[in-house]
Amino acid sequence: MPAFPAAADASTRNTQLRANLRHATHTIRAKRATAVAELDDWSSLRAAGAAIKDRTLRHLDQYLEQLERAVTAAGGHVHWAADADEANRIVTELVRATGEREVVKVKSMATQEIGLNGALATAGITAYETDLAELIVQLGDDLPSHILVPAIHRNRGEIRDIFAERMAEWGRPAPEGLTDAPADLAEAARLHLREKFLNAKVGISGANFMVAETGTLVVVESEGNGRMCLTLPETLISVVGIEKIVPSFQDLEVFLQLLPRSSTAERMNPYTSTWTGTTDADGPRTFHLVLLDNGRTDTLADTVGRQALRCIRCSACLNVCPVYERAGGHAYGSAYPGPIGAILTPQLRGVQSELDASLPYASSLCGACYEVCPVAIDIPEILVHLRERVVEGGPVSVRGTRTVIKPAKGHAAERAAMRAARWALDHPRVLRTGQRLASRTRRFHPRRLPGPGRAWSDTRELPKVPEESFRDWWRRTRGESGTEGRKTTT
Ligand code: SF4
Repeated sequence: MPAFPAAADASTRNTQLRANLRHATHTIRAKRATAVAELDDWSSLRAAGAAIKDRTLRHLDQYLEQLERAVTAAGGHVHWAADADEANRIVTELVRATGEREVVKVKSMATQEIGLNGALATAGITAYETDLAELIVQLGDDLPSHILVPAIHRNRGEIRDIFAERMAEWGRPAPEGLTDAPADLAEAARLHLREKFLNAKVGISGANFMVAETGTLVVVESEGNGRMCLTLPETLISVVGIEKIVPSFQDLEVFLQLLPRSSTAERMNPYTSTWTGTTDADGPRTFHLVLLDNGRTDTLADTVGRQALRCIRCSACLNVCPVYERAGGHAYGSAYPGPIGAILTPQLRGVQSELDASLPYASSLCGACYEVCPVAIDIPEILVHLRERVVEGGPVSVRGTRTVIKPAKGHAAERAAMRAARWALDHPRVLRTGQRLASRTRRFHPRRLPGPGRAWSDTRELPKVPEESFRDWWRRTRGESGTEGRKTTT
């Protein structure tokens, strides 16, 4: 996968993709603003959501052990996976033990993150996606491009073509003469998936939340497909990131208000499924919970970056991001696109690869993502923090061990410019002389930078140097001491 600028360069030239994204993100963001404005206490809810998550993260080890005890007591089995390979191995062995060769899946970002479908396919096991958008992505040999609407980059005509051409290869074919009317597309998917649900013996899910005190897992969704996946199979395997935990059932009341309004602009989501271990004569007979670390403990060790673990995957930050709207989700090269992907992926995977080192720069730092985030993650702050890590290197935690990473390649000019700026700012006389010189020569300044700087100025306007620097203006209007002419207030 190329670095973000190269991938975005290709996607921004796709006018159909940009039109699809613009239409979808603008529609969702407008609806979200209305849904949020209905609540007078939204800012209090937001602060409560952030506080609950922060407290939970501070005591994460204790809550996870409490969860393990509660799940086990309720008849479930808990497995700990340090990384993607371990999680894939655990799930593959669990499926093999059932003797099945097919599984149904309810949308799960964690399984996207670890590449579970590919690992199962290598072991001869076929995973069928049952979320409508995930089904579109799977049938189209595509990748998800949005957290909530993985097929956001497709319009109705494209979906009709995918259903008509590919459904038969995966099971029940699309009806003859399928149109691109939403009701027809939904009916085709319903018939196709119903067959899968009724035959499946193993289901794989993620979870939006896990409740430590009761061992309960929670999935919120809009279609009801998830509920079928969670209740019909004999064996249920849930793969969940360790940060998805909340201490008590009561904490859910905050998140079950924040999440639907931020994601689908609904007052409450249509289906909220909860399950606690196993129950005789109802639901799966066997339940396995795979707790996934995969870089989360290392992220927690970073006092600035750990905010990203508060994320409840609502996707509000994607829908307001001007960069995501033009580049699309595939350019981020990970299961987590948009602003949250730009801060989460480089922390989970590190910044050693060219792609991961480029992600903290996939932002204009406009701050719109922070404004809408229901758990108040200061995404711009983390982006700047990660840019510093890319350029300067420094101490990080890798699999629980503190280590020092080197600066990423290709940032020598940036580093030199920052050091020169620091030196100039430490020497006021030099700075003043430079500013005056720049003001007096402003007529001769180029509109584009020469040499390697050209790529930067090709897409930006260089700022105009003012006739007079702020320091000179201050001295001229306030005098040498800076107090002349200043009004005093009492
Ligand atoms: S970072 Fe905030 S706005 Fe973005 S998906 Fe996560 S919770 Fe939602």
